[in-house]
Order: sequence, then C-alpha cells, then structure tokens
Amino acid sequence: MNRLKNSSKWIEDAIKGFIENSTENTLKNQENDKAFETPLIGFSRGDDPLYEAFKEHVGPFCMTPWEIFAISFREFSVKPEELTVISWVLPHNKATKADNRKEKYYPSERWARGRIFGEEVNEKLRKYLQSYLESEGYKAIAPTLAPQFSIRISPKHGIASTWSERHAAYASGLGTFGLCDGLITSVGKAMRVGSVVARIQVSPTPRPYAKHTEYCLYFTDGICGKCISRCPVGAITESGKDKAACYRHLFPVTKDYVTSNYGFDGYGCGLCQTLVPCESKIPNRKDGL
Ligand code: SF4
Ligand code: SF4
Repeated sequence: MNRLKNSSKWIEDAIKGFIENSTENTLKNQENDKAFETPLIGFSRGDDPLYEAFKEHVGPFCMTPWEIFAISFREFSVKPEELTVISWVLPHNKATKADNRKEKYYPSERWARGRIFGEEVNEKLRKYLQSYLESEGYKAIAPTLAPQFSIRISPKHGIASTWSERHAAYASGLGTFGLCDGLITSVGKAMRVGSVVARIQVSPTPRPYAKHTEYCLYFTDGICGKCISRCPVGAITESGKDKAACYRHLFPVTKDYVTSNYGFDGYGCGLCQTLVPCESKIPNRKDGL
C-alpha cells in the first residue's frame, strides 16, 4: 500500500501545537511552568515485525497495533499494513531537570509534578490527537486509554503492560534503551512518552540504530554506569534495573514524601533520569568517562 510522503507534517504540527500553545501543558505550580518542551515525533507501520517480536521479548500479552485497533473498532475490517503508530517524546522542561539534578533521595517538587500533572498533559494529548484524527476522517485509538490496556508481569522483565509506549517509540525511530531501562532519545531520557494507533498511511520514521541499546554507553563502550550510583536504593546494577526495588521506593517512600511535603497526591523519582550523561541528549564517549 502506498504510504503518502509528507503526510506526517499536519500530525506533527498538531502535536507540537498542543504542547507549545495549550494552557493544558502545565505543572500546575504557582509559576504555572510548562510541563514539557517541544516534542519529538516518530511513526512506525502497523505491520512492523518489531511489534510481533515484542511478544517474544517482553511477553505474549503485548498487543500489536492491529490487535489494539481491531478490538477497539470491531465494526471495521482492517489490515495491519493500513495502520500507523504515531509516537511522541515529551521532554521535561529545563527547570524540572535542574531541580531534580540537585536531589539525592526524594524527587524535587517540579519532578513530582512532572510525573503526575505531566502525565495528565500526556493523557490529554492522547485524547486530543485521537479526536483530531477522527475529525479529519481517520479512526484512531490511544492504546493506553483502551479498555484492554493493563499491567502484566513479564517473565524476563517483571512489571510490564499490554502496550509499551517506550517500545512504540523505539519502533518509531525515536530512541534506544539504556541500562536503567529508560529510552535514550535525541533529547535524552528525562521525558515522558505517548502514542496513538491510527488507520492512516504515513511513511515510517527511519530507525537510525542497529541495536536496541545503541545509545547507552554501558552497552556500547562498557563505560559510564552513572545511573547505577544515581539510584538511591540500589535498584540499578550492571545487570539492569530491578523494577520491584524501584517500585518499593516509589510506593510508599516517595508517595508519602510528596504528599506530606508538596501537598498533592503524587509520587516519583527520576534520579536515574537526571544528572546522567543521557539526561538531555544521546551521550558521547567523553560524557561517560
Ligand atoms: S547513565 Fe550511562 S549507563 Fe546509564 S543509561 Fe545513561 S548512558 Fe547508559
Ligand atoms: S526511578 Fe529512582 S528508584 Fe527507580 S531506578 Fe531510577 S533512581 Fe532508582
């Protein structure tokens, strides 16, 4: 099927316009700081073999774009190749990252706001893009908002879900995985990520990497490992991230802290995403020494 060249621009403009102009993009603090800076956007085909491969690597519960779409719109008969995954990366604002760089155990207030209210922005963006595409005549579904989205346990990776925003971003040419399990992108890994699956033809974004860990200095050059020492509870080692140990720090430790110190119901950490060479860019060898 013919994928229309340049048909991505209006979608990119819609996503960027929402983040740049909408009053919804806020940390809801006194300063009314924006939660996110200009997004990165990528596209992948609904029939990209990577989506089937995720079932093998993460778990059989991972849904392909086609499975998500077909369950959400049972009235349509659609083929995987008719679908496109639209993926985006929302970089945390500079002040949020700067505040969290100073922290050693708990999240800064801006970071915790970015985790909670930032994700609310991300969710509103998913809904906005879904309706915008529909208004232009393209059926669309944000997988994490679909009733079939759920948390599962992966035999290899522990806590996982039926749709991984990071894996969709990886498939859409936006980044590769780091030792700490975050996705390292051209704007770093201090970010949040989202996606929508739509029945639309868009040229896929080239993946400028050959390996799924290509941007991490530990995997490529055997150096860095700075996320290991950033973790206050030893959840990251040379073997990767212990998700259960990370989760135990988030709940109840950071949740209690955020509630009593910052006055809202939230949690967060992100110390391994800040004050590391891959925080805001793809690191080079010099950064990891
Ligand atoms: S801090 Fe270093 S080792 Fe950790 S993910 Fe980033 S590049 Fe990889
Ligand atoms: S989010 Fe915090 S607790 Fe979890 S791995 Fe990163 S630094 Fe450690």
